[in-house]
Amino acid sequence: MTTSATSGGAATARGGARFAVSDPATGEPFDEAPDQSADALDAVVARASRAWPGWRSAPAARETALRAAADAVEAAAGDLAPLLTREQGKPLAESRAEVARTAARLRWFAGLTPRTRVVDDGRPVHSEVRWRSLGPVAAIVPWNFPLQLAAAKVAPALAAGNTVVLKPSPHTPLATRLLVATLAAVLPEDVLTVVTGREPLGARLAAHPGIAHVTFTGSVPTGRAVAGAAATTLARVTLELGGNDAAVLLDDVEVDRIADRLFWAAFRNCGQVCMAVKRVYVPARRHAEVVEALAERARSTAVGPGLDPASRIGPLNNAAQRDRVAELTARALADGARAAAGGRSPDRPGWFFAPTVLTDVPPDSPVVTEEQFGPVLPVLAYRSLDEAVAAANSTGYGLGGSVWGTDADRAAAVAERLDCGTAWVNHHAELSLAQPFAGTKDSGVGVAGGPWGLYGNLRPFVVHRPTEA
Ligand code: NAD
Repeated sequence: MTTSATSGGAATARGGARFAVSDPATGEPFDEAPDQSADALDAVVARASRAWPGWRSAPAARETALRAAADAVEAAAGDLAPLLTREQGKPLAESRAEVARTAARLRWFAGLTPRTRVVDDGRPVHSEVRWRSLGPVAAIVPWNFPLQLAAAKVAPALAAGNTVVLKPSPHTPLATRLLVATLAAVLPEDVLTVVTGREPLGARLAAHPGIAHVTFTGSVPTGRAVAGAAATTLARVTLELGGNDAAVLLDDVEVDRIADRLFWAAFRNCGQVCMAVKRVYVPARRHAEVVEALAERARSTAVGPGLDPASRIGPLNNAAQRDRVAELTARALADGARAAAGGRSPDRPGWFFAPTVLTDVPPDSPVVTEEQFGPVLPVLAYRSLDEAVAAANSTGYGLGGSVWGTDADRAAAVAERLDCGTAWVNHHAELSLAQPFAGTKDSGVGVAGGPWGLYGNLRPFVVHRPTEA
């Protein structure tokens, strides 16, 4: 697959600068994407702006187009999934599931329309609240779920009547270009455009005066930069940022029943999931049992290239992320932690890191207090539930958290004490398309998901008139 095959609907830079895209399973470049200039970006935003009036005034056509978009993604799954695995690293089965979730998001938002309301405050006034689209939306996406996160932004923005300029991470531009080329067959011209390039392309897009709303998913430091850039134009911002989710196990937990679910909540996509379990808290007397259950799974799970059907865990996406995970692990080990499984990079090409379960980790170790975003899981012992809840709530993040126990009502009562956006009971990182998704503290600003995601892409427009002469 070459990027020339993915150029439909994409802003191409024929003859212009390009950058290499690498296969995380080998560490070697295998293709290129356009490295778009400031002028190219200006042209794309101008086209998105021109496409907006037609799109915003055609709600029925939008619904039809978004349903066709979902069908088109499903029909292209055979091309999208392997390309996603090639540039992102995840096992092919996970890529196929991501493509399916991409289509599901497009379909879910297709029929969603905002509700007009009449506000009655008892006075002789007819006050009607309607909803209007914003204009061109910038959707900036990270490398861990390039297609699914693109759809999570594009679908509500388009359903609301906005046009979208989509910017994938330079680590994963290719499947996104193919996605947009696929959708070009069913969407009006310039309603959705993809721009690719290295920084400062994202910074330019976030600060672009033609952009009305910046919807960003990525790290906290970049989120702060995006908020600062949008402050210069007063564009609306939605920020979905990092997480450091805790799983708190209660003393009545049945380890055999939950160990698989807990393991995959931490190690799916090689741990590169914003709402992965990133720390586990276990009552001291159950600690050894939980460590061994997780370590046994870490040792026996097949690690390898995502295109090998035997692989259940692939490489990390890029060298910098692998190095960060290796450094956090080495520091914890130097500070007295023990690796019950893994603990290092295997001796092979590519950006692999062995699935790692850490025990005896000092609670102030950066692998506990920061977001590791990789296949490394610290398991910490606690003596009282208050201590566990305080530890779970002790970081600057507040994306998700979970509580696990046989008495689900008791677990739910503990879950209510977690300071986060979503608290799960006996599972983790499960999302419904109909529910809101929003982090607290440093994990985000604004709300995505469900009808809230639609309203995040709209502004109220009020018609207020007296009913008496
Ligand atoms: P990142 O912040 O480095 O990059 C995210 C995107 O921003 C990329 O497209 C990047 O090219 C672009 N970018 C870089 N500098 C920019 C700037 N100055 N202005 C505008 N855009 C810029 O994040 P990443 O390393 O690609 O992804 C990992 C992070 O994303 C983790 O922290 C993870 O938790 C987070 N994440 C959060 C969610 C969520 O929904 N809360 C979901 C997935 C990932």
